[in-house]
Amino acid sequence: MVTIKSEHEIELMRAAGLALATVHKQLEEYVKPGISTFELDRICEKLIRGLGCLPSFKGYEGFPASACISVNEEVVHGIPSRNRILREGDIVSIDTGTIYKGWQSDAARTHAVGKVSGEARDLIDRTRQSFFEGIKMAVAGNHVNDIGRAIEDYISPFGYGIVEDLVGHGIGQEMHEEPEVPNFTCARRGMKLRKNMTIAVEPMINLGTWEVIEGGNGWTYVTADGKYSAHYENTLLIREEEPEVLSLLPEEKKLYGVK
Ligand code: MG
Repeated sequence: MVTIKSEHEIELMRAAGLALATVHKQLEEYVKPGISTFELDRICEKLIRGLGCLPSFKGYEGFPASACISVNEEVVHGIPSRNRILREGDIVSIDTGTIYKGWQSDAARTHAVGKVSGEARDLIDRTRQSFFEGIKMAVAGNHVNDIGRAIEDYISPFGYGIVEDLVGHGIGQEMHEEPEVPNFTCARRGMKLRKNMTIAVEPMINLGTWEVIEGGNGWTYVTADGKYSAHYENTLLIREEEPEVLSLLPEEKKLYGVK
């Protein structure tokens, strides 16, 4: 079911989103060579709870942590581990979510660990930019698949692979609601976007092939060719003119030129 949110519900989702943006910003300083993904998750959960929210990922379909932390060829749903130590040159995607008074926000960032290769840096930057290209289409009256087409139009010239097995989604009181939000061109236009719908747009972009395989642990997806993958996600509110990005800080919105 697609839910159209009331102004009061939107206020609660703004609060969940602002907390989540704060968590991501504060986590940045801990992303350094030598830290384990377990430790990053522990800090993430502490930050979320410290801001009066609940970690939406913890226990979701049995997921054991507050954040999915995916390193290098891991695409999404990496399970934090004491044995996974970040090293100089890695790239790490942190995907996490908050619940504030029953309302959800979902966002992901990919970070460079220390100094990374030029191709890794470009992948991270272009994956982020593909989100901002995609959401230009995320306005009332357009269709949901217009977003994916814009992402693909931006990404294709770089020769990267766009993950197709996983897509963005509606969000509200549940983390995953209708509609699905693909990051690629579809034959159909998909559902019409309406004012006060809330969706999570989350391009997952691979340096090589678009193909992914499920890793051995039942959760983690990895690229089929072992090359790097990046992920960038925010929760959005659909409006008439341009969307409101709920999970960015005011200074980040200014930096990226979004509302
Ligand atoms: Mg998501």
